[in-house]
Amino acid sequence: MMYFNSREKIFKGYRAVVLWLSIVIFSWVSLIFSVWVELHTVDNEFNDRAGEIHRTLGQRISNLETVLTSLVGLYHSSDFLGIAEQTSFSQEMLKAYPFISAIMHMTRIPNERRDEFEAQMREQGFVSFRLKNDSQLGGDHIGTGGYYLPVSFIEPMDPRSANLLGYDLTRQPGVFNALQQSIKGGEIVSFGPVVINSSGKSQYFVLKPVYLGRYPPEKMQERVDMFNGMAVLCIELERFVDGIIEAGMPYDLSLLPVTDGDQMTHGGIMAGFSKSNIAKIAVDLSTFEYRQKIEVYGVVFELLVNQRIRADVIDWKNVLAIWLLSLLILFLAIAVYRNMRIAQLKEDEANAAIAAEDERFSHVIDTAFDAVITADANCMILSWNQQAVEVFGYNEEDVLGLHLLQLILTHNSLVEATDALKPMFKGSEEHPTGVRLEVEGRDRNSRKFPLDLAISCSRIGEVFTLSVFARDITERKQWDEKIRMLAYSDSLTKLPNRQAFKEQVSRAINVARRHQRIGAVLYLDLDEFKRINDTLGHDIGDMLLKNVTSRLEGQLRDTDLVERNCECEIENCNIARLGGDEFTVLLEDIQKPEVAALVAKRVQDAIARSYNLNGHEVYVTPSIGIAIFPRDGRDVEELLKNADTAMYHAKAVGKNNFQFYSEQMNILATTRLKLEGKLRKALACNEMELFYQPQIDLASGEIVFAEALLRWHEPELGMVSPVEFIPIAEETGMIMELGEWVLNEACRQNKEWQNAGYKPIRIGVNLSSMQFIQRDLSMKVAQALKNSRLNPKYLELEITESVIMRNVNETITTLKDFKDMGISISVDDFGTGYSSLNYLKRLPLDNLKVDRAFVKDIPDNEDDVTITSAIIALAQSLGLGVVAEGVETESQLQFLQQQGCEMAQGYFFSKPLPAKQLVGMLQHQDDSDGVGVTLTGKR
Ligand code: C2E
Ligand code: CA
Ligand code: CA
Repeated sequence: MMYFNSREKIFKGYRAVVLWLSIVIFSWVSLIFSVWVELHTVDNEFNDRAGEIHRTLGQRISNLETVLTSLVGLYHSSDFLGIAEQTSFSQEMLKAYPFISAIMHMTRIPNERRDEFEAQMREQGFVSFRLKNDSQLGGDHIGTGGYYLPVSFIEPMDPRSANLLGYDLTRQPGVFNALQQSIKGGEIVSFGPVVINSSGKSQYFVLKPVYLGRYPPEKMQERVDMFNGMAVLCIELERFVDGIIEAGMPYDLSLLPVTDGDQMTHGGIMAGFSKSNIAKIAVDLSTFEYRQKIEVYGVVFELLVNQRIRADVIDWKNVLAIWLLSLLILFLAIAVYRNMRIAQLKEDEANAAIAAEDERFSHVIDTAFDAVITADANCMILSWNQQAVEVFGYNEEDVLGLHLLQLILTHNSLVEATDALKPMFKGSEEHPTGVRLEVEGRDRNSRKFPLDLAISCSRIGEVFTLSVFARDITERKQWDEKIRMLAYSDSLTKLPNRQAFKEQVSRAINVARRHQRIGAVLYLDLDEFKRINDTLGHDIGDMLLKNVTSRLEGQLRDTDLVERNCECEIENCNIARLGGDEFTVLLEDIQKPEVAALVAKRVQDAIARSYNLNGHEVYVTPSIGIAIFPRDGRDVEELLKNADTAMYHAKAVGKNNFQFYSEQMNILATTRLKLEGKLRKALACNEMELFYQPQIDLASGEIVFAEALLRWHEPELGMVSPVEFIPIAEETGMIMELGEWVLNEACRQNKEWQNAGYKPIRIGVNLSSMQFIQRDLSMKVAQALKNSRLNPKYLELEITESVIMRNVNETITTLKDFKDMGISISVDDFGTGYSSLNYLKRLPLDNLKVDRAFVKDIPDNEDDVTITSAIIALAQSLGLGVVAEGVETESQLQFLQQQGCEMAQGYFFSKPLPAKQLVGMLQHQDDSDGVGVTLTGKR
C-alpha cells in the first residue's frame, strides 16, 4: 500500500513538469550529441584521409629525389649525352611519375662560350634559341659566376615548354647564393614559384647539380670547379597533387607556399591550387580542416585539406542509433532514479513510521504506570520516565549516568538484584533474558518501600541494554496483607486460622527435621462448650472464646512467663483457633516432650479459672491432646489428626486433662472408625436389642417402670456397650434412626406385655439431645404410640439437663406437647448439669433421676450424701417424683429410703434384662401378688 502511494507521489506536480522538460531538453541535447559523435567519427575519418594525403604527398616529394638522382646518374654516365638519350630517359620518368610536369637540363655555359652555345642549339633545331634576355627578367647577372646556366633540354617538348629553353635560373634574384650552396654541397635545392610562360601557371624547380666526371667530386672546391649543370624537375602544384584525392571524395585540398617563408622573397609570385574557392573554405566554420607544413628542399608549403560538413557526410543511421541509445540510457536513468526514489520514499515512510512508532512508544513509556528505566551493561542509567520521577523522586537529569540499582535499591536488595542479573551478562543463550524480583526500593528521601522489578536484557550486537520496569507495590502489599489476614486469621479472636496454623506447622516440621529438633502441637477443645453456648447464648459463647484466647495468649505469648514457669525455653510459640471451641498451640524447638506437658498444664489451669461474662459466672475446662513432631506426624495432616486423637482421648478419659498422643490412641480411633462402619448396618442386620431395667416403687416394692436400654450384638465383637456406640451414633446422626427404632420397639414391647395380661408398667425411653432438636420429635413419638396402640401414660421419656437448657422456650413447647399427649418426662443424670431452678419450675416434668455418680458413694461420701439429699429435697419441693439410679447396695437403698426417695433402679434390684427375662419378673410379681415382699426379700 505504502509502495503504491510512493509511486504516485514520485512524479507529481512541478516534478512532472521538470521531468518532462528535462526529457525534451535531453532528447535534443542527445540528438545534438549523437550528431556530434557522428561528426567526430567523420572528422577522425577525415583526419585519417588527410594524413594519407599528406603521406602520399611526401611520397611524391621523395620520388622527386629518386628521379633527380637517376637523372644525375645518367648525366655522369657519359661526357656528352645526346638529346635522344635524354629524351627517352625523361619520357620514361615522366611516364612513371606523372605529377612531374617536366624534366629539364640546365647546362653550365661559360660567359665566353655563349654565342657558341646559342649557335649550337640553333643547329640542333631550336631555330630561335637564345639565352633569355636580361630585360625579360630584369637585372643583369651575367658574369656572376662567370657562366650562364640556361635550360638546354626540356621534356616534354611542346610549344609551351619550348619557351623555357634558354631560360637562365641564375638570373633570378636571390637564387644565386642558394644555387652556390647546392653546387658546393651537391644537394637538391628548389625554387619557386616561378612564372615563366604566358599561361601564368607558377612552377617550382627542383634541382640537383651535375659535375664533370663519372662521379660527383668528393671535395667542395672540386665540386665548384667541376660544376657542369643542373638536372631540373619542373613542378606545377596543380599537377603535383593531382590524383591524390580520389574522384568523388568530398575533400578540398590546397598546397600553398608559406607566404612569409624565405623562398617567397625570390619566388615573388604566389601560386596556389584549390579545387574550390580557398577563401570560402577559410571562413566556413562548418568544415574539417587538416593543415600541415611540408618542406620541399627548402621551400615550405602548407598542406590544407578541408571537408565541408554537409548533411550527406553524416551517417544518420548512426546518429539515430546513438540518439536512441542515449534516449534509452535516459529512460534507464529515469527508471533507476524512479526506483531509487521509490526506495527513498519507502525508506522515508518507514522512517516516518519508525519515528511515529518511537513517538508513540515514548508516549507510552512516559504515561506508563510503571517506572520505566533503561540502562547500559554497566547499569548506568540511560533513560528515566515520568513515572520513575514519581516513584523515586529523582528527576531524569539528576540520575542520567548514575548506577541504576545502587540508586534505587536498599543494600540487601541490591545484592539480590545483582545476583539475579549476573547470568544475563554471561551472554549465553540458555540464560534467562529477564528476571522478576520483589525487592526493597529506596527513594530520594530514603523512604523504603516494596518494589516490583521486571528487568530484561536485550542485546543488539555486542551492546547490552537493560530495561527495568519498576513498580511501587506498597499498596498491593497492604492489600495482600489484608487479604492474608482475612484468609489466615479468625475473625472472632484474630488468631491465625486453621490454614495459617497448618502452614506454620508445616514449616516447623521441616525446620525440626532439618535441625533434629522436636516440637509439639497442643490440640485444645473446651469441654462442654456447646452446653455453655446453648445455655447462655452465642454472644456469651463468643465472649468466652475471646477470653480463652486472651488467657492462652497471656500464658504463651509472654515467653518469660512460660520459661519461668516451665523452667524451659520456648523458642517460638503460635496460637491458632481451628474453629468452634478448638484451639491449637504450636511449640517449636522444645528440649523434651515434658515441656509440652508443662505448657499444657499451665494452659489447662489458666482456662479453668472462672470467667465473668456479662454477669454470668462461667467455668470451662479444656481437654488437650499433645502430638510431638516430627515423631508423631510426618506432615501437618497427620500431626494434627494425631493431636486431635489425643484430645479425644483426653475427653474420653474424663475431660479437663491433657494426653500425649500414642499409637494406642490411634488403634482406639481406628477401632472407633470400624465400629462406626459396623453400626451403620447394625439395625438392618437385626443386631440391636432392647434390654429393660426395672424401677421399683420403694413404698410398694413393685416394678412400676422399666427403662429400655439399647444393646448391640456385634457378630465379631460380641456385646457392645451403648456407652461406646451411642456417642458414635450421636456424632454420625445415626442416633435418629436408632432412637426411633428404640421408641417404637419399647412401646410395642410394653403393649405386648400389657396384651399378655401383665400389670401395666411405664416404659422409659432415653432421648438423646440430638433427637430432641428434631422438629418432628413429638410427631414421631405420637406415631410410635399410635403404632403400638400404647396408652401414653405408660411412656416416660428421659432427657438430660443439657437438653432442657439448650433452648428453654423450645424445650418447654416440646415438653408441653408430650404432657398434652399424656406422656411422662424425667430428667436423667440429674445433678451433673447446670439446670437452673427457675427453668425446672417452668417445665412440665414428672421425675428427677439422681445421677448414679452421687448414689455410688453414699452413705460414706459426705458430699454425695449432701447432694443426694438436696436433690431429693428439691424434687419434693418442686412436686416431682425422685428416682435414684445405680442402687447397688442395701445401705444405699436404706439411706435413700430414709431421705424419702420414692423410686430406685439399680443392680441391687436387677440388671437390665432381655424382654423375656423381664417378663419373668413381671409374672413373678403378678403371681406372688406381693412384689415388694419379693424384692425386699432379695435385699
Ligand atoms: P443411663 O440412661 O443413665 O442408663 C443407666 C445406665 O446405668 C445403664 O447402662 C445401666 O446398665 C446402668 N446401671 C443401672 N444400674 C446400675 C448399677 O447398680 N450399677 C451400675 N454400675 N450401673 C448401673 P447402660 O445400659 O450401659 O447404658 C448406658 C447409657 O447409655 C445410658 O445411661 C444411656 O444414657 C445410654 N443409653 C442406653 N440405651 C439408650 C437408648 O436407647 N437411647 C439413648 N439415647 N441412650 C441410651
Ligand atoms: Ca436413662
Ligand atoms: Ca442415667
